[in-house]
Amino acid sequence: MVRVRYAPSPTGLQHIGGLRTALFNYLFARASGGSFILRLEDTDRTRCEDRYVQNLYDTFNWLGIHWDEGPDCGGAYSPYTQSERILLYRQYANELLDSGKAYYCFCSQQRLEELRKQREEAHSPETGYDRACRNIDAAEAARRAKNESAVVRLKIPLDESTSFKDIIIGESKWNNRDVNPDPVLLKSDGFPTYHLANIVDDHLMGITHVLRAQEWLSSTPLHIILYKAFGWQPPEFCHLPMVMGQDGKKLSKRHGATSVDEFRNQGVLSAALLNYVSLLGASYEEGNEIWTLDELAARFSLEKLHKASAVFDYKKLEWFNAQYIKAAKNDVLAEKALPFAVNAGVFGAAGKTPSVAEMKLFENAMPLVKERANYLNETGEKLRYLFCEPALPPPEEFIPKKSTREEAARLLRIGRGIIAELAAKNEEEAEAFVKRVAEAEAVKLGDLLMPMRVALTGSRVSPPLFGSASLLGGEKCAARIERALEILQRN
Ligand code: GLU
Repeated sequence: MVRVRYAPSPTGLQHIGGLRTALFNYLFARASGGSFILRLEDTDRTRCEDRYVQNLYDTFNWLGIHWDEGPDCGGAYSPYTQSERILLYRQYANELLDSGKAYYCFCSQQRLEELRKQREEAHSPETGYDRACRNIDAAEAARRAKNESAVVRLKIPLDESTSFKDIIIGESKWNNRDVNPDPVLLKSDGFPTYHLANIVDDHLMGITHVLRAQEWLSSTPLHIILYKAFGWQPPEFCHLPMVMGQDGKKLSKRHGATSVDEFRNQGVLSAALLNYVSLLGASYEEGNEIWTLDELAARFSLEKLHKASAVFDYKKLEWFNAQYIKAAKNDVLAEKALPFAVNAGVFGAAGKTPSVAEMKLFENAMPLVKERANYLNETGEKLRYLFCEPALPPPEEFIPKKSTREEAARLLRIGRGIIAELAAKNEEEAEAFVKRVAEAEAVKLGDLLMPMRVALTGSRVSPPLFGSASLLGGEKCAARIERALEILQRN
């Protein structure tokens, strides 16, 4: 039975890399009928904050990704928050001390700092701990540890080598002397380091596969050594390809938005984001990229993951978002776009919510903007003229190319004469109708429609005219044309 986990440290907002790791774990669990677990790795008390835990919950709730076991919903291996499991890690550190696989180290920060400086000055290639306390007699060290500040370090067996097979990267073999020298497992305040807590929990929680970002690959030999020290069977490892910016460097703020919140606030739909992120380092089927979460879950397998790093393409995400906006049902789209429109003051002052009638109008107007919006926030912005009288531009804006102000006024008067009938027709009928009118009046169709568009929407560029007229209704349209005529006829 597959058991996988997403094990974030709540030290920042959820970002694309974390989301990708969580998503692949989730999809793998769903694809194999296994369990997906959330574990909070919050042992670094200086960097973890409650607001980041909250952001984690908000983010995954918005995305519609739910775990089977976790700090909020519990499970057979509770607690799932590492800071609530501290005694457990101490117990396991003691076990390694007792079996001689770990040792107390009494080196002060100052000594370690001096060591680092000396090596730097001597241009020494050595890094990390020099194992100064490794050979202190265990009984004496245990005595000293009662009164002196000490950390517990792993005693890496130096004459061995460590190998493991990563599902994506394949076999690799490390000389133990090249592995992080005797890293700290338990800090002097009794808190575990990432390495100890992560291994103990993966083991106790029955994790079968570790799918995590490739930046953790260099820790894996150490983790394998730790498993061996405990006499435990390590899980399978699968290090996911890196996510890069288009310049080939690791995706970061320099490239643009990286936190899920930023994308959400920009008006990216959760389904579009999930779809796009699921393709960062994986492909599912020749010739198709649009997938729902369920479709992805039905297709996911570890063989579909790529070895090469993935490139995050903001334009591609925009394309996905536009596809999802286009395909969304009107009521669903209106509901998702609503908060953006409210904030932007589409229904009056910023923050004003729509009346029931306005909401209905907003929903009915979705077909006008669906094909034209890349982000949710654009939908309300483009429809503002339906809810508030638009500010009308200066007279020149009403005048078709190579035409005159008088002619523009004449065209508007024609418009005033037909608008009630036009507004009552569906798109197809409206089109045929205005064509007939243009012919009868011997004017170009475009010239006839342009001043009318400016009068109704306040702009030469707007969502479709006929649909707008029908949503506004004949009466409102006539009043707006009247107002425009006043501007044009003013001296
Ligand atoms: N807490 C680590 C992180 O923040 C987990 C790494 C792992 O999955 O082992 O990414």
